[in-house]
Amino acid sequence: MTHSTPSPTVGATVLGYPRIGPRRELKRALEDHWAGRTDEAALAEVAARLRADTWAELAASGLDSVPGNTFSHYDHVLDTAVLFDAVPPRFRDLGLSPLGTYFAMARGRDGVAPLELTKWFDTNYHYLVPELGPDTVFALAGDKPVAEFTEALDQGVRTRPVLLGPLTFLLLAKAAPGAPAGFAPLELLEPLVDRYVELLGRLAAAGADWVQLDEPAFVADRSDAELAALREVYARLSAVPDRPRLLVAGYFGGFGPALPVLAGTGVEAIALDAVAAPEVLDEIPSVPALRDKEVVLGVVDGRNVWRTDPGRALAACASMFGSVGALSVGTSCSLLHVPYDLSAETGLDPAVRARLAFAREKVGEVVAFARALREPGATPPPVGSVAPRRDDAVRARAASVTPADLSRAPYPQRAAAQRDRLGLPPLPTTTIGSFPQTGEVRRARADLRAGRLDRAGYEARMRAEIERVIRDQERLGLDVLVHGEPERNDMVQYFAEHLDGFAATEHGWVQSYGSRCVRPPILHGDVSRPAPITVPWSAYAQSLTTAPVKGMLTGPVTILAWSFVRDDQPLADTARQVALALRDEIADLESAGIGVVQVDEPALRELLPLRTSARKSYLAWAVDAFRLATGGAAPATQIHTHLCYSEFGDVIEAIDGLDADVTTIEAARSRMEVLDDLHAIGFRRGVGPGVYDIHSPNVPSTGEVADLLAAALRVVPADRLWANPDCGLKTRGYAEVDRALANLVAAARASR
Ligand code: GLN
Ligand code: ZN
Repeated sequence: MTHSTPSPTVGATVLGYPRIGPRRELKRALEDHWAGRTDEAALAEVAARLRADTWAELAASGLDSVPGNTFSHYDHVLDTAVLFDAVPPRFRDLGLSPLGTYFAMARGRDGVAPLELTKWFDTNYHYLVPELGPDTVFALAGDKPVAEFTEALDQGVRTRPVLLGPLTFLLLAKAAPGAPAGFAPLELLEPLVDRYVELLGRLAAAGADWVQLDEPAFVADRSDAELAALREVYARLSAVPDRPRLLVAGYFGGFGPALPVLAGTGVEAIALDAVAAPEVLDEIPSVPALRDKEVVLGVVDGRNVWRTDPGRALAACASMFGSVGALSVGTSCSLLHVPYDLSAETGLDPAVRARLAFAREKVGEVVAFARALREPGATPPPVGSVAPRRDDAVRARAASVTPADLSRAPYPQRAAAQRDRLGLPPLPTTTIGSFPQTGEVRRARADLRAGRLDRAGYEARMRAEIERVIRDQERLGLDVLVHGEPERNDMVQYFAEHLDGFAATEHGWVQSYGSRCVRPPILHGDVSRPAPITVPWSAYAQSLTTAPVKGMLTGPVTILAWSFVRDDQPLADTARQVALALRDEIADLESAGIGVVQVDEPALRELLPLRTSARKSYLAWAVDAFRLATGGAAPATQIHTHLCYSEFGDVIEAIDGLDADVTTIEAARSRMEVLDDLHAIGFRRGVGPGVYDIHSPNVPSTGEVADLLAAALRVVPADRLWANPDCGLKTRGYAEVDRALANLVAAARASR
């Protein structure tokens, strides 16, 4: 199968496909089932139909290898844990059906805590973290990959089952609560690989001729021991007699040192991500062992929504002939991360739409590129000449940013000016921004959208809600108030809707976790702010009270992280444009009399590159973007930032670098550990470690909050410490929030 001349057989495949349903059919079926409205059979019917539709569509598309086992009722990491019987006793003891146990692991049940949910590499998808201990006994308890293979085969489609690879599975897992200190899930590699051997046998017996094993953990830095384990595992799996051929996939980056390791084993094929890691194009020719392997070259971006430039993609593929045994055109990663179908979007600006490709269109690209490589006459049409929205004023302004724009007066000077202006007590209390989004608020938004309510009526309702939230906070005795964000559907979408350069889709849903989907805005061109966005709401809130009201903005990094972002210029340049728009918003807030402004950056950690070598330059532009957004604020304006959704060990210095006057940060569950990290690097500005875990419906008692504050006071003096919840209160109910905030205020006062 070695080709050294450019007249090759070129394959076409994708590494995975969305599974929530083109109209989120699975979401609805799941939520009906969880609410007790439907039984397992009804859910199974919807699931089977979605699988059948996906196989039929992919088989008809012209791909020559269709991925299988891409369906999931919730999450593919959870599927893998259950497949190998890694079910912690607390879920087994519930005595539920297999599917009931599965959902209990995902969502918790009867007071039993679910598995931890965490981010899937640097994406906005979340997986459930398997809990493994020395007493975990793997068994091939399930047959999902085999059953779905057979189901597809009955439909006439011989799929290539996709499995999470054993190493990535273990590297993503965590030690079970009772495991001895120092236990690492990787210790369970041998018995787990035994089960993979068994599974490969079953898949072969069912008729599978290819299996895909995903090992994205190896696009991050790995130790020599881990690379050695990679070699042993794939040497062993490829030595299994009568097995399917093996495709090992690495995505969200390049395999780097893992590439020659894998190429040295007996696996037949390797999938590489040439979008996130264009350097793989240079690495492939330098690995001689690849001349006997098939390479699936991921030239179509599985994580973003842009059409692929055929010229570049074809050139990249063609340059591989001679260096690889066989070539397939592929997606960079699973298409899980993009919406289904562009044809559903009828409201998009045609100039933007012409540049887009969703999952279905990306499959079409892969097929067209493979055909063009096989039959050089069949070159696909070039991407139209539609250029991104261009705003020369924005570009000129971004180009003329100077270091002075990024710095404010020295902190001591600012702190003094803010003390004079705000007159806050030691240990001031505040919240993170949103208050519970009541049914009324949601209904008003829906009514506005449906035309049942006009703009004036909608704004009146929002003002009424803001007044209620202000009065509530005055009654509770909070020191720095918020307007409650009732007018925001989502902290990124809201800004995207009010900035030029963004587009919104109607059906562009992407799974975030389980049944939860997000519809990321599309940042398609130069960004500018046609008019003030938050100013009228914040100014109205401030007009109701003499207490300071905090303006509330989403930071540039988070706006980028939760949008589909143009890929024709560096992220740093795009971030700078967003930052300039926010800078103007802050200036307008200041003019409207707002003295405190919070710029949320919960996604600061999220975009951190997987390889440590790339982190420094990311953090540099991310921090600069925040500082550009906030750097124009007067010394007496108190700038807050807020961080959550992750551990911050890797970004502690960057948090300091933001130079915010006050940093509120998720900490309730980790018992304030982040404070030690901040203290250790010399962080000496205001900090508000969360003392109320808003992810749980529990109401913390005054004593519990006081204990957390006492723990914090051991590291941070009272004149720099704030008392606040972990995050926004949007998803909570008023009954619990009122009690929790009353206790928070009481605890802060008692601690003063
Ligand atoms: N200001 C936002 C809110 O309170 C922050 C949300 C977040 O950090 N995710 O809802
Ligand atoms: Zn938060």
